[in-house]
Amino acid sequence: MADRGDGRRAPAAGAALQLLPSVDRVMNEPASGALVARYGRAATLEAVRSVLADLRAALRGGHAVAPSDAGAVLRLAGTRLAAEMRPSQRRVFNLTGTVLHTNLGRALLPREAIEAALSVMGDAANLEYDLDTGSRGERDAHVRGWLTRLTGAESATVVNNNAAAVHLVLNTLAPGREVLVSRGELVEIGGAFRVPDIMARAGARLVEVGTTNRTHPRDYSDRIGAETALVMKVHTSNYAIQGFTASVDEHDLAAIAHKRDIPFVVDLGSGTLVDLARWGLPHEPMPQQALLAGADLVTFSGDKLLGGPQCGIVVGRADLVARLDKNPMKRALRLDKIRLAALEAVLRLYADPDRLAEKLPTLRLLTRPAAAIQALGESILPRLCAALGGRADVELAPCRSQIGSGALPVDLLPSHALVLKPRAGGARVPGDAVERLAAAFRRLPVPVIGRIGDGALHFDLRCLEDVDGFLGQLDALAD
Ligand SMILES: *Cc1c(COP(=O)(O)O)cnc(C)c1O
Repeated sequence: MADRGDGRRAPAAGAALQLLPSVDRVMNEPASGALVARYGRAATLEAVRSVLADLRAALRGGHAVAPSDAGAVLRLAGTRLAAEMRPSQRRVFNLTGTVLHTNLGRALLPREAIEAALSVMGDAANLEYDLDTGSRGERDAHVRGWLTRLTGAESATVVNNNAAAVHLVLNTLAPGREVLVSRGELVEIGGAFRVPDIMARAGARLVEVGTTNRTHPRDYSDRIGAETALVMKVHTSNYAIQGFTASVDEHDLAAIAHKRDIPFVVDLGSGTLVDLARWGLPHEPMPQQALLAGADLVTFSGDKLLGGPQCGIVVGRADLVARLDKNPMKRALRLDKIRLAALEAVLRLYADPDRLAEKLPTLRLLTRPAAAIQALGESILPRLCAALGGRADVELAPCRSQIGSGALPVDLLPSHALVLKPRAGGARVPGDAVERLAAAFRRLPVPVIGRIGDGALHFDLRCLEDVDGFLGQLDALAD
């Protein structure tokens, strides 16, 4: 825009530059007190300086700026501070239809776990201290008893996540040696967890057996040799191989491995400690079943179907778990007091399966009846329409929710979604209007995250529990 040739813009910019208030003038504005009280003097000063610097740069570049008296500069600084100081990680409404959404933080903790975590967060705790004897204790002891009780395992250990659990098992039991895995089980979970990569990083040598769709007992037994350290089964949690398929079940694999005195390990991924069929959900394999079938160790996540904090759990033979605990990697992967407290509280809920579906949010959301979700949709539809003020047509439509996080990949739960279709006009490309609508919902005080498909924005209501919070902020959509 600057026309340096005609010599008229530059003096005007120069005059405007002269008129910019000093930092002191801006800080002397009466309204600055509120910003200092809220954000502190240093941050307020820095924001004022950076606003003034931006205005100066804009004027020098020949750009027009809005009136920039001291009051206006202070208001700009206030807006900048509010944006800077807003927490980066915030609560959102997960209306994507995926209950255990990895990008949205997976399992929601039950009230009991939140309280347990809170009670140790700001205070000292007996994390590694035995209150009976007054001597040093062990951090995993807070959850080991529950894990062995609930799974029937001899022992258990916990680490940062299930990827860490698998890594620890391989790095402890198979460094420099061979691990047999079926070609049909070389899974990738969400990009960062790939069985061959974890294997290499843990220092173990992957030996692929069988083919992608069919693996037979002899594929394993023919390949076991002096270099074999482990036989491993990976639960194909996020996909299903259908058609002409064969795989070897845990029972037979355990027998093959044990005949040669080799431990058999199962990476279950999504471990549930109760049979989901009890609530009409599809059956998902449980660690206790893998152990009964003969697995020596089973690994699974704490924040998938278990419904707890992010962690990885290993249950199984006491001698093998003791070796895991002695690996220096265990120290690098261990849990902190906050997550241990939350995990312990979640495991305690499993002692009362009758009330689990009511208390554990993951199970409560997974078992929410489609009719209840439909009724919820009908009750909020008019409010949503009113808030949208003609920007979009809204209808309630049946849909299918996913469990997510690799659990039960092909089973979809009947649900209902509010489907928002932007009205014609406005956007040049129809897709843009949906994107803009989705962005408006993401800008709400508690961002609402849906799913875009078929030119519409879909809000699956399965995970909407805070209805008042959702409705109460819709007025802000108009802004
Ligand atoms: C999810 C999953 C993992 C990774 O677990 P994280 O807790 O995300 O680290 C590993 N293996 C299987 C089979 C899984 O399903």
